[in-house]
Amino acid sequence: MLSKDKYSACAEFSPEALKKVIRGAHPEDSVVSIGTHAIGGGVLGVIAGPCAVENEKQIIAIAKTVKAAGASFLRGGAFKLRTNPYSFQGIGSKGIKLLAAAKKETGLPLVSEITEIRQFEYFDGIDIIQVGARNMQNFSLLKELGKCGKPVLLKRGLASTVTELLMAAEYIMDGGNVNVILCERGLRTFETFSRSTLDIAAVPWLKQRTHLPVIVDPSHAAGDASLIPAVAKAAVAAGADGLMIEVHNDPEHALCDGEQSLTPDAFSALMIALKKYAELEGKRL
Ligand code: PEP
Ligand code: MN
Repeated sequence: MLSKDKYSACAEFSPEALKKVIRGAHPEDSVVSIGTHAIGGGVLGVIAGPCAVENEKQIIAIAKTVKAAGASFLRGGAFKLRTNPYSFQGIGSKGIKLLAAAKKETGLPLVSEITEIRQFEYFDGIDIIQVGARNMQNFSLLKELGKCGKPVLLKRGLASTVTELLMAAEYIMDGGNVNVILCERGLRTFETFSRSTLDIAAVPWLKQRTHLPVIVDPSHAAGDASLIPAVAKAAVAAGADGLMIEVHNDPEHALCDGEQSLTPDAFSALMIALKKYAELEGKRL
């Protein structure tokens, strides 16, 4: 006989519906680490790189500059989820190979987005698998990633509550994967000056309730490079364990999200400023 689903109406936060992500399940802050690089546990992990991998020259140049500026992870989308079918869709598995070349050159661990589970065969060399906002509730993908043996960076959906974000993370943890990072990246609201409205209070709210590291993506929230430094500082002041920031060596000609990408110089300046903010929060870069 099927038992009544006592969690079916749990849109409101309830610790009973979240067995593994809640603080009580793991009193210490969880830390996701790849070698000597970490996110959480007193380390502000900075993931930087282009929205999309475009070609070898581009990704290697960006990897070198973000590394020199002090970033600890390199990001780059190979498989892109684009709103418009005629927009640049990413270079696919070739992009993953180019990321591996950038890692060889710089030693930076890699973060890249998977958009469907059959791409997993290409992700051997990727250290942290990203689930994008549009896939936050792709439950079959989350279940597979629960068994994949690699850390997962889970981005909050454009119209998802923080409780739904925690439940999505619970899907991954329930599969046995303890390495999950949550990412606040802004919400769809009536406001149009920014690409998305960053829910800054979500950071302390999540930190109160979960042991998982919480990072902020100011790039997709603000959607405007001139706003990123201030928003990144605010995220650190709000208690974020890390940041994901888009950087491009030639933002004007970027194939994706150039308008929100920092130049290498702007990123280096931001990293210097962030050091002080991190220290105030008792964290190191
Ligand atoms: C990204 O990080 O490249 C991205 C597409 O972000 P989001 O899923 O948050 O829109
Ligand atoms: Mn992007």
